[in-house]
Amino acid sequence: MAKENRQFKEMNQEKGGAPKKGPKFNIYWIYAIVAVILLSAQFMRFSPDLSKTSKQEFINKMLIQGDVERMDIVKNKDRIRVYIKPDSLRKDFYVSRFKKDLSKEKAKVTGVPLFEFEVVDLKSFNDELKDIYAANPALTKVPDNPVSDPEWFGPVFNTVLSLLFIIGAWVLLMRKMGGAGPGGGGAGGIFNIGKSKATLFDKGAKVNITFADVAGLDEAKVEVMEIVDFLKNPKKYTSLGGKIPKGALLVGPPGTGKTLLAKAMAGEAQVPFFSLSGSDFVEMFVGVGASRVRDLFKQAREKAPCIIFIDEIDAIGRARGRNAIMSNDERENTLNQLLVEMDGFGGDTGIIILAATNRPDVLDTALLRPGRFDRQISIDKPDVKGREAILKVHLQPIKVSETLDLHKLAEQTPGFAGADIANVCNEAALIAARKGKEAVDMSDFQDAIDRVIGGLEKKNKIIAPHEKSIIAYHEAGHAICGWFLEHAYPLLKVTIVPRGTAALGYAQYTPTEQYLYNTDQLMDQICMTLGGRAAEEIFFGKISTGAANDLQQITRIAYSMVTAYGMNKKVGNVSFYDPSQENTFTKPYSEETGKIIDEEVRGIIDAAYQRTLDLLREKKHEVEVLAKELLDKEVLHKSDVEVLIGKRPFEEKKLLEIEAETISVPAAENQDTTVSGADKTDSSNLAEPSANA
Ligand code: ADP
Ligand code: ZN
Repeated sequence: MAKENRQFKEMNQEKGGAPKKGPKFNIYWIYAIVAVILLSAQFMRFSPDLSKTSKQEFINKMLIQGDVERMDIVKNKDRIRVYIKPDSLRKDFYVSRFKKDLSKEKAKVTGVPLFEFEVVDLKSFNDELKDIYAANPALTKVPDNPVSDPEWFGPVFNTVLSLLFIIGAWVLLMRKMGGAGPGGGGAGGIFNIGKSKATLFDKGAKVNITFADVAGLDEAKVEVMEIVDFLKNPKKYTSLGGKIPKGALLVGPPGTGKTLLAKAMAGEAQVPFFSLSGSDFVEMFVGVGASRVRDLFKQAREKAPCIIFIDEIDAIGRARGRNAIMSNDERENTLNQLLVEMDGFGGDTGIIILAATNRPDVLDTALLRPGRFDRQISIDKPDVKGREAILKVHLQPIKVSETLDLHKLAEQTPGFAGADIANVCNEAALIAARKGKEAVDMSDFQDAIDRVIGGLEKKNKIIAPHEKSIIAYHEAGHAICGWFLEHAYPLLKVTIVPRGTAALGYAQYTPTEQYLYNTDQLMDQICMTLGGRAAEEIFFGKISTGAANDLQQITRIAYSMVTAYGMNKKVGNVSFYDPSQENTFTKPYSEETGKIIDEEVRGIIDAAYQRTLDLLREKKHEVEVLAKELLDKEVLHKSDVEVLIGKRPFEEKKLLEIEAETISVPAAENQDTTVSGADKTDSSNLAEPSANA
């Protein structure tokens, strides 16, 4: 439907449509052969549908009655097969035995043995027979002919059969594992198990997605522009001896357009695009992942310059060996191979590796080192403007009514990712078609949004309007505190666009570095972090669970102040910080001191909260202005805030004074935790996960 889908189809055709050379080995032949063998075996082995009997029964019920026509003596098995006179079969004994009168089906029973029994020893059986004939002179001697069953047949046959079966199963498995993707048909199979499954969108097929297809993401586009430029014109860079980045990590929640952006990069640079998911590497067999990586890079080298895109890199890139029990050798091998390959090619090879993840924090640090994925490009969920732009892109192929208000639609879809919006457009078109409309109108979109929200609610965070306003005031509280507290960090931007899995909104502060903090700074930091909760209390009269993360942070800071930095008069200049972390169970201070510590921490936090409340009550108007604007725009940058409430009072001074803001604070609970400025989730930003409501 959308333009992009059409391209996908083209690519798939290209991929699957290429004629496969070489002899075709059709798996179904194996099935056929096995089936035939099984069937014939059924025939040959079991065709004498023999009824089991015993020697005693044979003698008393058949032989002496004169019913036996002849016997086969199977010499190599000590068995006797018995042929019964067809006419005798109407006797009760046989009728009850076979549950029908077989004499009526003469054709079926003549010349066919009907019973079989085993004897211990053929010779003594013969002697026994002689005795019987001697004792019953009236009995005519039953002719017997010696036969022997083919000895080899059974066992050999069984072995062959099971072998065939195992081979068949194996072939099937291999095919499944090495199988080329959809449309790949017989190309996969046993011999391709280590080959990468990378789908190649070659230049021939042309990735004709460009930056124009990627709406919003302006900052990310600027960042990747350099890479595109390099791919287009590598000489320009290498001739000056510059080193080109080998890889970049696209970080952001699912559906925000990471794959799309990577593809657009290939499209802009007109280079081949290899795409592969991290989970494709991880297979059942040891060594497969590593060999797939090797193969992928081999292919890429042949096509360079090109882009390799690895989706869900966390599937292979998780930190190694953190947990001995849970360690996964195969994944580690794969990761090692990836690192080896990345180090193996020089910057001038022209291969750019892009990887996408939602969890950069779980990645092995080795992956993030210089020369590997040393650039992180963060791709967040779109704000109102972004959503409007994405809507525009996806509405292009749709016939919409003129009354459609894009801005309103964008406002109604807070928390939607690009993929969700694409979904809404599609749904709306389907709904309108079902109603037999000429064009898609506002009501169809409303229905579509409801439907998509219904689907999303289960797996994703969608924010209800009343929650949105709580979040807005919460974040505005943080921002205003930061604005009017002298030692707090300069605000960069504040947003209520949900981010990742945990944060419903966040305030971001100028990333700088600082290694020493004084009491004032820590106190202001605590106040700023409490600003969210305080704003909730002031404006809604009640507090929400959204501040859990904030509270964790301030608790950690306050404890550190008291127990590690000697910043508390009562406890004094002592530090209970234990870097070796050996004393997990015994506290290095007395119970009394413990009590004092708890009291003092409480004291610090209570005082800070009161101070925050006072400040926000004083600046109530500003909070309100900011929150309202946030509700409307969803994102406010520093410049927007300046327009709304004026310049930050201490700005000039601040810039001279503060150089930094991250500090490693040993936490009180014997845990080496990094406490950052205020609300930190990743290395470059101080982001504020405000809620887990
Ligand atoms: P990710 O790789 O981040 O999970 P994708 O790139 O696969 O997300 O996005 C899925 C789909 O969502 C895309 O194919 C596109 O239709 C739509 N989409 C996502 N973000 C955007 C965007 N910024 N502009 C236009 N379409 C988008
Ligand atoms: Zn908060």
